[in-house]
Amino acid sequence: MTLRSLIRPLREGLRWLGEQLFPPVCPVCGTALGRGERTICLRCRWEMPLTDDWVAARNPVVTRMERSIPELTHAAALFAFRHESGYRRMIHALKYAGRRDIAVAMGEMFGRELRESPFYRDIELLIPVPLHWTKRLRRGYNQAEEICVGLSRSMGVPYDFRSLRRVRRTRTQARRRDAADRHRNVEGAFRLTRPERLAGRHILLVDDVLTTGATVAACAAAVRRDAAGVRISVAALAAVRGAGR
Ligand SMILES: [Zn+2]
Repeated sequence: MTLRSLIRPLREGLRWLGEQLFPPVCPVCGTALGRGERTICLRCRWEMPLTDDWVAARNPVVTRMERSIPELTHAAALFAFRHESGYRRMIHALKYAGRRDIAVAMGEMFGRELRESPFYRDIELLIPVPLHWTKRLRRGYNQAEEICVGLSRSMGVPYDFRSLRRVRRTRTQARRRDAADRHRNVEGAFRLTRPERLAGRHILLVDDVLTTGATVAACAAAVRRDAAGVRISVAALAAVRGAGR
């Protein structure tokens, strides 16, 4: 009998016990998930304030991002971020509370829309907005990477977690309401370590929530500075509507 054959039933048993003690709940509305419901309940999935950003050449995210990313190819958010909604709690859970599974599931859902879109059909590489290594260490994971894992599964496109690095720690963007201040805060914070991997390709920069888009724009600037002929598109799970005006 191997150690592995002992550990697996033990782990399964613990998971079963955990589900009995703490039945999984929907991170949006907090009700217990029923049979066949995974990650979020069917009602919250149905009521999610989805955009249709991926079907139109022009959309509010493109309008916002093309101001700070010259020659942007396309940009889309899966749903509209509202401060008072349960979907905000879900974003909080996937970002700060260790719920990587939500980030992956949402990425997978988003990817099913993007793979049908003419604007995303030729994406060649998924690049998450990186965290500074000290922050990643403290948090244990980068939610944007987990979203990429989900996107990659449904789009069949590889991700690259290593080529773009955050080289400077920045103060949190969340408390900066002013767009100019947000842009100054992240300017020059990113660097490409392997520009040859991106050169000449169509990449998708991936983030969780777009507010002014200053962080993604700083990533795009680093890509443009260090690699030639890159086409850049942007995808975020949620976008704050009307921000950065
Ligand atoms: Zn729900």
